[in-house]
Amino acid sequence: MTADTLSLPIDIQQTTSPRVQDVDFTNLVFGRNISDHMFVAEYRDGQWQQLRIVPYGDLSLSPATAALHYGQAIFEGMKAYKNEDNEVLLFRPHDNWKRFNRSAERMCMPTVPEEVFMNGLTELMRLDAEWVPCAPGCSLYIRPYMFAADAYLGVRPSESYLFVIFTSPVGTYYANPLKVKVETDYIRAAAGGVGAAKCAGNYAASLYPARLAQQAGYDQLIWTDARDHVFVEESGTMNVMFMLDGKLVTPAVSDTILDGITRKSIVEIARHWGISVEERKVSIREVIEALKEGRLQAAFGAGTAVVVSPFSVIAYEGVDYHLPAVEEDSFVTKVKNYLTDLRTGKIADTFGWVLKA
Ligand SMILES: *Cc1c(COP(=O)(O)O)cnc(C)c1O
Repeated sequence: MTADTLSLPIDIQQTTSPRVQDVDFTNLVFGRNISDHMFVAEYRDGQWQQLRIVPYGDLSLSPATAALHYGQAIFEGMKAYKNEDNEVLLFRPHDNWKRFNRSAERMCMPTVPEEVFMNGLTELMRLDAEWVPCAPGCSLYIRPYMFAADAYLGVRPSESYLFVIFTSPVGTYYANPLKVKVETDYIRAAAGGVGAAKCAGNYAASLYPARLAQQAGYDQLIWTDARDHVFVEESGTMNVMFMLDGKLVTPAVSDTILDGITRKSIVEIARHWGISVEERKVSIREVIEALKEGRLQAAFGAGTAVVVSPFSVIAYEGVDYHLPAVEEDSFVTKVKNYLTDLRTGKIADTFGWVLKA
């Protein structure tokens, strides 16, 4: 079977042994179950080719595969939801596509045409629609990624690449408010570096400092700027936001801060609700002062995996500062519910963010 109305046709090979009925949709653990199919496209001789959807399974790679040595690898993370009519909804997928290509450019990789990204994605959603959970808080996590595929040991941009999309049904990511530690030794990103790209290496570099924080009893880090450790950057792999003096305050995106789609959606929703928003440099001193003076209503991480994840403790210079509990009528709760209602089609999408797959 071929979706042959496309200029780059997708060859579809459906699985003969679907696994969806074996999944316990009432107890989804992040990243454990992978859906039946995956989309694959190859970049060779300067062109995208051999677009296909095949049963999810192992890739066969040379041990010399460039991505495994020099880290030319990028990814995206997005989610699909079901509305009450059992239709599959995607949230701002074009923004993921655009960001993917910005990451690709920074890592000296070819960009992926909109048609390849979007058609691969929607065909995959069509085939694996049964994998999209409908229970509250659940969704289908979508992982598009690309890596350097040359079997060549010299250091140079690869000439061939694989672009793959696979998906995984997920429940809620972090259940409890997080205890976060302000990191003032290690860094996530420096000016001129790759912090704004969703590249694999950023995650590798964050694991060791995150483990040290976990061993000290914290869930996650707050990264500070690489030069002086004065300004707040991100939290773990989320953007970070504050409700400070009744205003939504968040570090402005830069080449050290990833341009999160959750972050910018929350900024737009807050403005839509008439809340003042400040996107600027935020010093950790300002946050701690406000916390001590009771002017910090909330601090939270924002990202596709978690949506919104409030902090209960911020640790700075050896002191644990406790944040107020998140109330039902707080901004954090309201914006989380609003985003969830938008994504699941419960409320009208006045922003034009939701796309039927
Ligand atoms: C993916 C990511 C985010 C969140 O981006 P979303 O588009 O909201 O998922 C934030 N920070 C980092 C470092 C990320 O990799």
